[in-house]
Amino acid sequence: MSTGWTVLAAAAAVALAGTVRTWIVAFSVPYGHPPQPVCPNCQNAVIPAGRMGLLGWLPPNGRCRTCGERIGPPPGTVEALLAVAAGALVHTSTVPVAAPVLVFLAAAGVTLAFVDLAARRLPDPFTAAAFAAAAVVILLQMLTGGGWSHGLRAATAAGITGGCYFLLTLIANGGMGDVKLGLTTGLLLGAQSWTAVLIGGLASVLITAVIGSTLRAAGRRKPGDDIAHGPSMLAGVVITLVTLA
Ligand SMILES: [Zn+2]
Repeated sequence: MSTGWTVLAAAAAVALAGTVRTWIVAFSVPYGHPPQPVCPNCQNAVIPAGRMGLLGWLPPNGRCRTCGERIGPPPGTVEALLAVAAGALVHTSTVPVAAPVLVFLAAAGVTLAFVDLAARRLPDPFTAAAFAAAAVVILLQMLTGGGWSHGLRAATAAGITGGCYFLLTLIANGGMGDVKLGLTTGLLLGAQSWTAVLIGGLASVLITAVIGSTLRAAGRRKPGDDIAHGPSMLAGVVITLVTLA
């Protein structure tokens, strides 16, 4: 879509950043633990009770509004990634009506990336939200000229990508979160082309391998340590969609 749509989508995503920061803080807890929507330092609520998490807000410097301690991702990072992700998704989309859904998809994706980095998990509410948003986008593309063949390719790619990650969980130490997110990345890449599915899949594995070996070389990780793959999967999608657009 046009530069105007891209800038508008990036701005809308940045406007959501304060709320996305509260989701990241709340869900960056060990696997199996309930969300903790409070500041870890002063225990003040970052998501007001009874508002379903929709009206919480943290400033771009990532500091608790009560005690001033930095909680969650570093200053500006959530805002910058949201702008890049939403801008890239909308820029490479051909369906204007899908723009709000793509902004929401970017918000779910950025939440998943930061939670995976902080807590090595991809929480179900956000993998489900990302999948639902991607499915709506594919449906809109089908209804605006894409047709059944478009939807079938995206669905097949989702099955193949999810299947590959499921095999990985059986033979390596991948998680079911990667499988669920793989369904979404498969849908998005499959909607573009089979070339995108291949390149996006390879790119994500390559990014994780490079980050893993860099961390090991720097002594930050031991061989065999778990490395978050979710951020690489999402980065692989954005890089591939923009490169092949
Ligand atoms: Zn606090």
